[in-house]
Amino acid sequence: MTNKLKYFVGNWKMFGDFKSIKIIYKILNFYKKSKFRRFKNKIIFCVPNTLIYLFKKKLKSKLIYIGGQNCYHKEEYGPYTGAVSPAMIKRAGAEYLILGHSENRLEGDTNLLIEKKIKLALKQKIKVIFCIGETLKEKNKGKKFYVLKKQINGSIKKNLNLKNIIIAYEPVWSIGTSKIPNANDLKKTFVFIKNYFKKKFRTQKHPVVLYGGSVNHKNISMFSFIPEIDGFLIGGASQSSKKFIDIIKNYYK
Ligand code: PEP
Repeated sequence: MTNKLKYFVGNWKMFGDFKSIKIIYKILNFYKKSKFRRFKNKIIFCVPNTLIYLFKKKLKSKLIYIGGQNCYHKEEYGPYTGAVSPAMIKRAGAEYLILGHSENRLEGDTNLLIEKKIKLALKQKIKVIFCIGETLKEKNKGKKFYVLKKQINGSIKKNLNLKNIIIAYEPVWSIGTSKIPNANDLKKTFVFIKNYFKKKFRTQKHPVVLYGGSVNHKNISMFSFIPEIDGFLIGGASQSSKKFIDIIKNYYK
């Protein structure tokens, strides 16, 4: 159930311009020389569509991967003003794509719409970071596992290339709030997601599951004691090279 490879994924949300590549250069310089590379880990930055091509071109190093944050639910080109398709995101250079983020769910992304996006992104050979998570209301009503199952069942289908789907468990009440789940609850949730997915889709291995929600350099050590967590989706703290580097350093402390 535990993967040795640990992911550190930045979700820049609506942040960054051409100069912001400096943040990633600083992280790359740290990472190149870092002793932490002897542990297996992967750094991915999911940036706005406006930055994917430039960052991919400038970052000659293969040590940091670039991803996008959402896409339109049609594969190629078409009369959809303002929309960007998975094929366009792929051609810009993205290797990963966040889908189902709660901020996009709030704007109207349903399980069905997310299912379409996942299918099309995988067809383009983009690896999907599929976000799931309960709201505070759902948590308080004891509906967490019900919601997680519903989100998984509503957007993931058996015939997909499941190896290219990474799940990110992001409790909605934890995103950008400085509130995090307690360690026992989190461990139980990870074991639940991993076992449920494996059983439901009859996969040989458990899926890769990341945690997301207010991860910072102070609370990361608590997460590091939960081996079922395969890595992190980091929002606010990924917009600062120092904060992101400190998260990695403290994870391995
Ligand atoms: C996110 O938006 O995916 C996220 C985890 O945000 P934050 O780290 O800021 O809570």
